[in-house]
Amino acid sequence: MDFELTKEQNDIVKAARKFALGEFPERAMEFDREEKFDLKIWKKACDLGFVGVFIDEQYGGAGYGFFEHCLLNEEFWAVDPGIGAAILSTTFGAELLAMYGTDDQKNLVLPQLVEGEAIMGTAITEPDAGCDVTGAVTIAVKEGGEWVINGSKMFATNGTVAKYMQIFCQTDPENESRHRRYSFILVPTETPGFKATKIRGKMGIRASDTAEIALKDVRVPLENLIGKEGEGFYELMEFFNRTRLHICAQAVGLARAALEDSVRHTKGRRQFGQAIADFQVTQFKLAEMATRIRAARNLYYEAAWRSDRGKPDHALVAMAKWFSAKVAVECADEAVQMHGGYGYIDEYRVQRLYRDAKILEIYEGTKEIEKTIVARSLLK
Ligand SMILES: Cc1cc2nc3c(=O)[nH]c(=O)nc-3n(C[C@H](O)[C@H](O)[C@H](O)COP(=O)(O)OP(=O)(O)OC[C@H]3O[C@@H](n4cnc5c(N)ncnc54)[C@H](O)[C@@H]3O)c2cc1C
Repeated sequence: MDFELTKEQNDIVKAARKFALGEFPERAMEFDREEKFDLKIWKKACDLGFVGVFIDEQYGGAGYGFFEHCLLNEEFWAVDPGIGAAILSTTFGAELLAMYGTDDQKNLVLPQLVEGEAIMGTAITEPDAGCDVTGAVTIAVKEGGEWVINGSKMFATNGTVAKYMQIFCQTDPENESRHRRYSFILVPTETPGFKATKIRGKMGIRASDTAEIALKDVRVPLENLIGKEGEGFYELMEFFNRTRLHICAQAVGLARAALEDSVRHTKGRRQFGQAIADFQVTQFKLAEMATRIRAARNLYYEAAWRSDRGKPDHALVAMAKWFSAKVAVECADEAVQMHGGYGYIDEYRVQRLYRDAKILEIYEGTKEIEKTIVARSLLK
């Protein structure tokens, strides 16, 4: 395994950092306070080729691996997690479509994502089905050559801004195996009966759109089935193996930002006649943050490296996910602590980082679920 970045990967990192530093800081506080999803900055990122880099060249993407998408996530989140989430989550679900979609579906959706003409999302969670996705009761029934979908979804990223939403729903509710009851169906959000309502008041990543979705007699052609009927649960697990890597990269980016701000602040802030960075307790905190960040990054690099070589390791992805999220939460906490009262107000980035970090332990598999996956692999 060679984790040295290639020249091309280094160029991606440099370009991403330059773009993020040039565009995010002046907008970050406003977008956070106003919970504003900004189409302009997303389009600009698309024009510069940052969106959908893992999408095959035949659909307009760069044809890179998930690793390169991770590198972008890390750099964007290292400047502002909210805007980073808003931009790079606009392809959330393209990983699944690329793996299981028909040629027609891929030809329709993927180029639009890269070109900045469409945003997509993937709605799995429901009001009564979170960690246990087999509790989902949204149902799709075949009727007159169409799927008729009814149900509701919760916390769907991009719900009110997406042109396409992939809906995880029951297509075979009577199947004796709970895992074989589900399929994914592609739903254009302009379809009658699809209604998304923005969820306001999120703790963090407030520049990213999150919505509740109501589906009432939503009719789409049978051809909108993604992958195999009844295989949705298994497709979802493969999908998570990829998208969870992006969360790890987000976590490492956020933790880096926390460390960067902490170094700057503690060198400049003086108490008891010296910089607070001169206290050994501060130095130990900085050293621990840097070490944890390095460890988290190495875990996700290895997980992404294996994934891009067709050898995904589910337990390793789960380890990387819970560990990197914990590192992000801890680093953000220490950063606020080292800023004292200044860390408690939103003029300082660390206040946002502290709020933004928590989602990393919740979405795409809570830390408890990730540890369960790891434990299962040990005990099987
Ligand atoms: C900002 C945001 C964006 C999101 N984006 C999306 C999206 O785009 N698409 C989507 O489908 N969903 C999305 N989600 C939903 C997210 O994935 C869920 O919130 C998450 O899976 C947890 O589900 P829940 O909230 O229903 O919690 P619950 O499942 O009710 O869990 C509550 C607590 O119980 C614990 N718990 C549950 N079961 C177990 C168990 N077996 N063992 C131990 N502990 C357990 C959990 O770990 C957690 O701590 C998003 C959520 C947020 C907040």
